[in-house]
Amino acid sequence: MSNAESEHKPATPEADSVGMDFIRRMIHEDNRTGRFGQRVATRFPPEPNGYLHIGHAKSICLNFGIAEEFGGTCNLRYDDTNPSKEEEEYVTSIEEDVRWLGFTPSKVLWGSDYFDNMYAWAVELIKKGLAYVCDLNSDQVREQRGNLTQGGQESPYRKRPVEENLDLFERMRKGEFPDGAKTLRAKIDMASPNFNLRDPVMYRILHEPHHNTGNKWCIYPMYDWAHGFEDSLEGITHSICTLEFENHRPLYDWFIDAVNQGRTDDGSGPWGKKIHHPQQIEFARLNLTYTMLSKRRLLQLVQEKSVRGWDDPRMPTICGYRRRGYVPEAIRAFCKHIGMNKFNSTVEIGVMENFLRDSLNKATPRRMAVLNPLRVIITNYPEGQSEQLEAINNPEDPSAGTRLVPFSRILYIEQDDFREVPPPKYYRLSPGVEVRLRYAFFIKCTGVVKDEKGNVKEVHCTYDPATKGGDSADGRKVKATMHWVSAPHAVEAEVRLYEHLFTKPDPSDFPPGQDWKVNLNPNSELVMKDARLEPSLAGVTPGQKYQFERLGYFCADKDTTAQRPVFNRTVSLKDSWAKEQKKK
Ligand code: ATP
Ligand code: MG
Repeated sequence: MSNAESEHKPATPEADSVGMDFIRRMIHEDNRTGRFGQRVATRFPPEPNGYLHIGHAKSICLNFGIAEEFGGTCNLRYDDTNPSKEEEEYVTSIEEDVRWLGFTPSKVLWGSDYFDNMYAWAVELIKKGLAYVCDLNSDQVREQRGNLTQGGQESPYRKRPVEENLDLFERMRKGEFPDGAKTLRAKIDMASPNFNLRDPVMYRILHEPHHNTGNKWCIYPMYDWAHGFEDSLEGITHSICTLEFENHRPLYDWFIDAVNQGRTDDGSGPWGKKIHHPQQIEFARLNLTYTMLSKRRLLQLVQEKSVRGWDDPRMPTICGYRRRGYVPEAIRAFCKHIGMNKFNSTVEIGVMENFLRDSLNKATPRRMAVLNPLRVIITNYPEGQSEQLEAINNPEDPSAGTRLVPFSRILYIEQDDFREVPPPKYYRLSPGVEVRLRYAFFIKCTGVVKDEKGNVKEVHCTYDPATKGGDSADGRKVKATMHWVSAPHAVEAEVRLYEHLFTKPDPSDFPPGQDWKVNLNPNSELVMKDARLEPSLAGVTPGQKYQFERLGYFCADKDTTAQRPVFNRTVSLKDSWAKEQKKK
């Protein structure tokens, strides 16, 4: 694809690094010094245990964006070293989402394809006296790990002879021991101030089939042991991850150095040639207000049916945004705008919505729809007659042209646009008041018809034929312009309106002892079952996007049928966030 953000010139060693973020500056510097031979290779390594969310989008835009800007490559690699939680459904969705965001992986690869390599290197570490089989269970390992002020205790199995370790590790692989009975641990430093270096576990026993390797393995590598080798084997130059892995970087480096111990550049000697050593770089995770970005918790919402699924328009998943009507350009522009830093912070969700409005404003045709209809009878308009009025498709884009909208004696307007007794400063329709119907005429309210409960059932108006198109010849002014649809021509539809899924800016802020779901917003979805659309919206297909005048941007949902459109409100027209900021 041609990424909208790739206005950066390819960074040749001579190019200037001014204006680059700290990651791009590091890469620029590595290119300048020739550290990786001017090569730039990144990867995006999701664990296929859930759908991608907007946090992942930040990582995707970063990794794929860097590859494009520096003329390098970016692999999509499934980090599938943990057999228990991974499913085919997730794998399919991940690649679809990456491509939808506008990126093409250089290669699509699997961490589990490297299990043989990883095993061979583990054996090598045992032979070098750098790893041992430990019989402590996970609780015992934890107890002996020490704390912040005190070093840990060395495992009684730490001094096992190499031959015994080789034999036991081989038997672990063959399945002779039950889950948890033994682990393979790196022999590093139980007194290290960095916990990750206190003899971390490299392999654990897990008698579980793996979606890719089936029953071949019953020992599985731990993340830290696996990840650096996946990067190394793929020739990744810059392994970019989130800040919580900063303390793991010494271990990342230790494992690769351990394999390289005794190896040589030309492969002479007993251990062979050195393996490639990538550079790990950490950046801050994205947090968004009113948004939960944890696959585990999102999965819980899906399983407990708090939402319509992973792609519920309220979900912060890429497929949720897609269904809601987001466009990838807006997400990419947002990710570029927030930039990269080394400190975790939270971005206002309104910032992302503004990028979305910008994109949609330019691209979406305007239509008229009434969500909460109130009947209006134009008493001086002939019965059984109608006429076609010209309406502008997109004032931002003259090439979008015009369309015809029917007008007749019976119309619908929004309930909200009429008050029998108007409050102060209410300029919309009320008895005796004249307003403009967009693209149509001035109408004036002459009376109301009520039902037996006293509710207004129908509003009676007269129209002024001389105001056709929406302007009076005599210079008469009205204070409100309203949208409407002609009742006999209208398409019946369902329209779903959304609020934030959580009531608190920080959804993880809940009282001790309570469930995190106390912050779920019970009103996050409002379904308008009786909406009426102008007839040009008949036959819309899922994914089609419009601005409904005065109401916001809408996208046809996948629940749409030939008979009945279903629309999601993607975002309202007004930037309520900016307004709130001004008030502060
Ligand atoms: P979660 O905590 O939601 O399960 P994860 O970090 O476990 O996310 P992975 O599948 O391991 O999910 O992530 C793949 C990549 O996406 C990693 O490189 C990770 O650092 C990055 N990533 C995940 N969440 C965010 C986030 N909120 N902001 C930026 N990058 C993220
Ligand atoms: Mg993870």
